[in-house]
Parts: sequence; structure tokens; C-alpha cells
Amino acid sequence: MLDLLSNLKRTHYATSIGSDNVGQRVTLMGWVHRRRDLGGLIFIDLRDISGICQVVFNPENSELMEKAHSLRNEFVFGVEGVINLRDEKNINKNMKTGSIELVAEKLYLFNDSAPLPVQINENILAEEDLRLKYRYLDLRRERLSKNIVLRHKIIHEIRAFLNSRNFLEIETPILMKSTPEGARDYLVPSRVHPGKFFALPQSPQMYKQLLMISGFDRYFQIARCFRDEDLRADRQPEFTQLDMEMSFITQDEIFEINEQLFKHIFKVVLDVDIETPFPRLPYSEAMRRFGTDKPDLRFGMEICDVTEILRNSDFQVFSSAIASNGAIRCIVAPGCAGYSRKQTDQLIEIAKHLGGKGLAFAKVLNDSMEAGISKFLTDEEKEQILKTSGAENGDLILFAADSTANVCKILNGIRNHLGKELGLINPDEFNLLWITDFPLFEYDEEKKTWQAAHHMFTLPKDEHIAYFDKEEDWHKIQGQLYDLVCNGTELSSGSIRCHRLDIQKKIFDVLGYREEELERKFGFFLEALKYGTPPHGGIAPGIDRLVMLMTKAESLRDVIAFPKTLKAVDLMSDAPSVVDQNQLDDLKIKIETDKKQP
Ligand code: ASP
Repeated sequence: MLDLLSNLKRTHYATSIGSDNVGQRVTLMGWVHRRRDLGGLIFIDLRDISGICQVVFNPENSELMEKAHSLRNEFVFGVEGVINLRDEKNINKNMKTGSIELVAEKLYLFNDSAPLPVQINENILAEEDLRLKYRYLDLRRERLSKNIVLRHKIIHEIRAFLNSRNFLEIETPILMKSTPEGARDYLVPSRVHPGKFFALPQSPQMYKQLLMISGFDRYFQIARCFRDEDLRADRQPEFTQLDMEMSFITQDEIFEINEQLFKHIFKVVLDVDIETPFPRLPYSEAMRRFGTDKPDLRFGMEICDVTEILRNSDFQVFSSAIASNGAIRCIVAPGCAGYSRKQTDQLIEIAKHLGGKGLAFAKVLNDSMEAGISKFLTDEEKEQILKTSGAENGDLILFAADSTANVCKILNGIRNHLGKELGLINPDEFNLLWITDFPLFEYDEEKKTWQAAHHMFTLPKDEHIAYFDKEEDWHKIQGQLYDLVCNGTELSSGSIRCHRLDIQKKIFDVLGYREEELERKFGFFLEALKYGTPPHGGIAPGIDRLVMLMTKAESLRDVIAFPKTLKAVDLMSDAPSVVDQNQLDDLKIKIETDKKQP
């Protein structure tokens, strides 16, 4: 017979009691995490959201013992009793409540549980798909539940900090018109207006700018964003951003507010001191030195350009890269001159995986370059390479020769791989930095069109506005754009926005929008810009990524209560799923089945 809660009240959480409470009468409620029946004594580990406390049942009370015997793993119960200090030999130093135990006097069985399809045990993890199917059970696991609790704390501190800085939290619509952030929209058909669709927000970008026009000069929102992107590793189709926008603000002030915000969160939540101001690196420098706009600066191994040194090289790999206007760059792997063929082959595989043709090697031994490609180099070239790269005896030099973009991609990948492999990264460090001075546009070789490098509502640098006049100058236009990077992960992007309609129109011209399309997609927004738009700007740090970094979780799925898989499905509820025909009829939607399928 199961008990009801009736007037029974929980007095403590499992881990809120300690040696100070010895002798006190308490009531705990939770799940059977583990039971040990030692014939005479029964020990139950009671688990609640705070953690675990040991409950002990003494044989003197036979009625109580009988009930305790019926407890099985994951049964839900309440227990009333007195806190006792454990004998010296039974103290468990690994447990928060390891010095005490609750001696049970009354037991209330609230519910039983079928045997679980996945274990609540960090050491016996079932396969991830099964855990995602039973996510509500997997969330009982300490590591996951801690992540979710920490996420709450972070969001709470964000709210407290921004409130103290005069920010207003304002919700913007989920059913809206498409906001372009470079991904595909999730569309929602309208029943009331058949054939018409809402888009779920890729971000609240236009709304937050409209709020600036309305005069709410400091806005934030813990905003859910939806992007139907082709699936790449560790992305979620819906994710959460701390969306912020401010009026009458400069880039420096946005940096300052964010630096203080991050400093606050790290201190309060993790007791970690973050140094401010964060270093700043212009985009072009980041690409040159690290081959990426999200460099991990917890270690060195900078990329070194040796194109000029090798401009006249006879070595075919180098000469063909030069002939096709590419680049030759290298990185130095410290102490790796002794790498075996197998180890260098593994690096070549990584380079190929990243779209390269391979990598060239040379070892530094006896103050000279030896082995690998060194036989193809002149003494003068070798000397110059050693000087420029700073390579020393015992090092391995790795060369990539390809288009500049490929060289960057390959050496960035190799650098990150070796940084981990060689133990050059301090896992406890949080390295935050700003990347600045991004180009406003990039040319899409395939589509033969210009695209916004980040998004199209960004103010170009004042001194670059003259470049709008000639297409050959468009690549030189830099926007007031910035990214915040932590340990090689992009945490957020933002920009100072284009508050002037004349400049915004120049941007749309470069992007090739026709008047009719502009009107249809952004007419309301362009009209709003006419009515006294203040200078404004913002940023949107990704909350999932931030929590992932702060919890050192391995995947975004470990910091989101109900995540989707890499294939953008929810294995627990089986969404997306087919819907009833009458729902489709209401929406006037006909599903065309793929004729090729049987
Ligand atoms: N809306 C931008 C994004 O989602 C962030 C911003 O510029 O504020 O990336």
C-alpha cells in the first residue's frame, strides 16, 4: 500500500544536513539510489536534487524493517528520523554527508518504480540514444543534473547583473517574420491564413533593433533561437542566446559591459577570477597567426608564413601552390622530431580530412633541418625557415601548401589537435578574447554573389563607406563587428548596427536585393529606421556554449535539459512526427510522398 503525502513536510534536503544537525529530528524525501541489505541492518542511499544521504534502518522496529525490505532502486519515499554521527570507520570522505546518517523511525513509500531501462550511474553509461529516449531518467544522473543546476545559476546571475546595469528584460515574438542570420528558417503554417507562414526566430535581431527605436535603450532577453542548418557536429536546432542591445553605445562600452558580466558570472558561479579587459585581436591577425577567427590562446604554436622564403622553390608541392597564388605556412610541433611514421601519417590524415592534400615535414636536429622534405630545400631556405619559425633542435616542422583558405584551415586543425595531444592546454584556464575588425562582406565563389559576413544590419567603419562605390573595393569594407571567443569556441557575435537608412540601403545593394524583395522581407524594418533611430549595437552570447565551457561538458546535449540529436530529432517524444490528416486539412497542406520510395 502506497502512502500519501498528506500533511507530511520535508524539513531538509539530503545534503543540507551535516554534523551540526546531529541529534535533530528531520524528514527527507527522495529516491532509493542504492540499497544494501545486510541481513540485520538495511542501508538506503536517499537521493534528491541536492545529492545523497545515507539512511539506516535498525532491526528493533520490525514493522519499519518490513517496509524497508520492500524498497527497491528508484522507489520514491519519505523518511523521518534522527541524525546520527557515523562511527569513525564508517565515515565516507567522498560524500558531502559522509560523516552522518539518518536513523529511520518512520518510512513513507510514495511510489514504486519499474526497473529502469538506463542506470543512474556515471560509471555504467548506456548508449547515448537510449539515454536520450529516457532523458528524464538520465537527468537523475549527478553530472547532468549538476549541469542543469549550474545553468540555472548562470542565468540567474545574468539577470541580476544586467538588472543592476539598467537593462530591461523584454520578450519578443516566437511566431514572427523571418530574421536572416544565414540559416534556413523553421516555418510554421498559419491556419487562419492558409498558404502563409510564420518563421521561428533565428534570432530576435530585428525586434531588438525596433526596441531601440522605441526608446528602450538597454534590452536583454534569454532568447530561444531556431536555425534549420545542415547538421554539423555539436549544434542544436534550437538554442539559447543572451540577446542584448543598447543605444547610444560604442563598441568599447559593449566590450566593457560584457567583460564585467563574464567576470561576475565566473566569480559567483565558479569562484574563478577572469582577467579584464579581454585581449583584442583583429580578424586579419587572428587568421594570419592562428588560421582561424576563433583561436585557442591557451597555448602558442603560432602559424608562420614561409611563402616568400619558398617562392622560388623547386619542390613541386610548394611551386604548384605558389603558381596558383596560394600560400606556404608552417607550424612547429615542439619536441616532436622523434615522431614515428605512424604519428606523422595520422597528422596527414587529419589534414586530408580538413580538405587538404597532405602535410610536408622536416625535423630539426643538429641545428639544421633534416629528413622529410629537407632534401628539396636549399641551405639558404632552411636557414631562413629556422629563423622565421623559431624551431629548435628536437622540434618537428609541419608545412601546408595550398590556397590560403585551405592552409589556414589545415594548420588550425593540426594546431588544435597537437595542442591537446601534446598536453599544451591547461584545462582549467578560461581564455576569453575579442576578435575585431571583420570584413562586412564575403564573396561566395559558387553563387557568384556577395554575402554578409555576419549579418546585414551592421554599420561599416566610417572610413570605409567610400568603398561602396566600386565593387572591386567591397572586400575592403570592414564592419563594426566583433566576436567573443573562449578556449577556441565562438561564444558570441555582435555589432554596432546600421542606424542610418541611406547606409543600410548601400548594404542591401551590395547583397543584390531587388526593391520588391526588400519591401516584402524587410519593408517594416526599413520604414522604422526612418523615424529617429538612435545609434545602437549589441551582442548575443550563446548560453548553451557558455554553460558547456563552465561545466567542462563534452557536448551541448549535456547542458540542455531536453536536447535534440545531431539529426535534429527528439528521441524521447519522437518529434518531429507525422500529424493527423485533419490537422493538415485545416492548414490546407498536402504532403507529397516521395514517388521513388515504395
Ligand atoms: N543576432 C546576432 C546573432 O544571432 C547577434 C547580434 O549581432 O546581436 O548572431
